Amino acid sequence: VNIVTGVYARTQREVDFPSVNGKHELISEIFGKNVFGTREMSNRLPKPVFKTFSNQLRGGQTLDKVTADAIAHAAKVWALERNATHFTHWFQPLNDSTAEKHDSFLSLKTTFTNGLPDVTALETFSGSELLQSEPDASSFPSGGMRTTFEARGYTVWDTKSPMFLQEGPHGTMILYIPSVFISYNGEALDEKSVLLKSSSVISKVALEVLNLIEPIEDDVPRTKEIFTTLGTEQEYFLIDRALYSLRPDLKNCGRTLIGGLPARHQQMEDHYFGKIPTRVLAAMSEIELELAKLGVPIKTRHNEVAPCQFEAAPIFEEAMLAVDHNLLTMDIMHRVAHKYKLKCLFHEKPFKGVNGSGKHCNWSLSTDRGDNLLTPTSSPETNYRFLIFLVACLKGVHDHGDLLRAGVASASNDHRLGAQEAPPGIISAFLGSELNEVLNAIEEGRPVNKFLAGTETKNIRVTGTTVDLKVATLPKLSRDMTDRNRTSPFAFTGNKFEFRAVGSKQSPSFPVTILNSVIASALISIRDDLKKQMGDKPIASTEDMLVVIRKYIIETKNVRFEGDNYTEEWVQEAAKRGLPNIVKSPEAFGRILSEKNKSMFTRLGVFTEPELESRFHILSEKYTKDIQMEAQTLIDMLIQHVIPSAFSYRRELSESASFLKQLGEESGPEMKYLKQLTPLCVGLQESAETLEEHLVKALEIEDINAAADYACYSLSPLIEKTRLLSDQLERICADKYWPLPKYHEMFSTL
Ligand code: ADP
Ligand code: MG
Repeated sequence: VNIVTGVYARTQREVDFPSVNGKHELISEIFGKNVFGTREMSNRLPKPVFKTFSNQLRGGQTLDKVTADAIAHAAKVWALERNATHFTHWFQPLNDSTAEKHDSFLSLKTTFTNGLPDVTALETFSGSELLQSEPDASSFPSGGMRTTFEARGYTVWDTKSPMFLQEGPHGTMILYIPSVFISYNGEALDEKSVLLKSSSVISKVALEVLNLIEPIEDDVPRTKEIFTTLGTEQEYFLIDRALYSLRPDLKNCGRTLIGGLPARHQQMEDHYFGKIPTRVLAAMSEIELELAKLGVPIKTRHNEVAPCQFEAAPIFEEAMLAVDHNLLTMDIMHRVAHKYKLKCLFHEKPFKGVNGSGKHCNWSLSTDRGDNLLTPTSSPETNYRFLIFLVACLKGVHDHGDLLRAGVASASNDHRLGAQEAPPGIISAFLGSELNEVLNAIEEGRPVNKFLAGTETKNIRVTGTTVDLKVATLPKLSRDMTDRNRTSPFAFTGNKFEFRAVGSKQSPSFPVTILNSVIASALISIRDDLKKQMGDKPIASTEDMLVVIRKYIIETKNVRFEGDNYTEEWVQEAAKRGLPNIVKSPEAFGRILSEKNKSMFTRLGVFTEPELESRFHILSEKYTKDIQMEAQTLIDMLIQHVIPSAFSYRRELSESASFLKQLGEESGPEMKYLKQLTPLCVGLQESAETLEEHLVKALEIEDINAAADYACYSLSPLIEKTRLLSDQLERICADKYWPLPKYHEMFSTL
């Protein structure tokens, strides 16, 4: 109670919008201010240097030393003008976060005056410092690829991602250099290097396919490059930091291990898109402001379904940049929330019984002219380019659904997948009724039924693409070609696919690497089939394309599902279709190493076998440790918080009962609660002991698979069982004895 009143008594932080002459600067003016991007580089670099740089970038070549030195110099001058003191390579080790090691620009120059050394301090930054750095690789997860005596690892500037400045203390700045992180022998120790590889593979083969089907026209320039686009909708929870600090489970594990649902949570459906609480709106505005300076284009903000749950979505960008930007978004959210005395929770299921958080990954392919290859246009049935790329996506998902499931597997996301808010462990694709009809018609070789024909009642007239409400003052609205299906893990949403199973906490990098790879692999088959079909023709005919499209429609049919993915019927139907239903993570991780998936990755050159084994190790180990940590945290909370509060209340009740008895009064009500408390105390104490015994056993298991299975099938169910007892106790224990902030307190103090 004291804390909650304290929260309300605090003064509110105000957003410090930059202003000129008393008027706030427009976001468009602030946008990218702290990025050393293309414009800044072209302004500051000598023309020939900039030209060499852009040529090398576009040609996929490495930078030469002279160019690197010139860029480093220009970047240093730019950064020092903005109060920078340090620079750092910024990379993405295999632990879902980012890493940095700061070096100051300081260097010393010694000259000799009359034989005496004269030391001058100055700021320098060389091309080689820009290009490469060597952090000690032995303390990052490598999944057995690196042993501690082979500690060398290198970070290398990813020239496709621009440098940027982030705030240090008191108005100083730090220059960030986005980098990949590889071992002494070039193996990936990070998320980014494989993402880059998958991107270049899919770009290449997508262009080859396009070149086979795009008619050559004199006045239209050929597409030179294709890249993947990504928009990540980030869901998150915000709670008051003071309350957060009293919950060891949130602090250690990111989720509440105990805590009962309050009477009011999300049943009224009044939070989604509701009025954003003032403090949260201020924090969101500051987050957006900080991100705008970094060139991260946040577009949408709103309340999500669960209490205290929110979402931010950016304008989509080239996938590699979008991943960097999502990681920056999470980082800035975390830091700004702190300034508002809030805690940002990215865990997929921080609170039992209300919706968890995901990170929908909206994915598509775009040409260098900004042409989206997944745009169906108004007649998709004759848009063969669209159909070819569409069936490529279906084939990728059809052939490697299990791998996509593995890409989103974690101890935390397991709590969300298959609950009532997220798709189950069955990966299928939703196309919407019209596209589905188009594919069915092609398969059956018949004309398409235009069933968006429309309906008319007294109040509403629906035609193909418009809805008319027959109210003179309301404009007619245009409707999309497909309706939505919120339950599908991989849904076509107008002109892109939305991969919805991705967890809110994880980096989007691995799921996108997998998507790029499986679709690239599908495009390779399609390319080869098209070539076979075409014979000597330089460009595929309509007939050639239709033959290939039809083949893949038939082949991938069983991965298409238009119904409700949350139902039991789908689980059974999917089993009939032979689609894997991977409920728990350890099983999913195993799929990374299946022959089919391994050979796909190695054939494409995205992962080597040791790199895949390392992924498997890291993911399994993290999974096991996460659950072990939950078990330990729960044991501590039971012994230090939960059981003692039951004891205190028991003592009060028994003292009261005994006093009453001495007075000859009725002590029935006290005795009734006392009798309920006793078995709970016994049960909780036994649970703590059982958990402890199991944890000791768990920590002794050396085999990585056995350890993960034990965490999954022994520890995890015990944790959930124990929780039920604690939650029962929370309901009957006097509030003054309950030391942990309850759900209703955390939900109502924003
Ligand atoms: P919803 O909540 O209805 O799914 P939002 O508008 O919140 O939709 O988010 C959609 C996301 O999809 C945005 O981040 C948007 O930029 C992104 N997006 C739109 N078009 C594309 C595209 N062609 N490629 C990748 N992402 C896209
Ligand atoms: Mg969405």
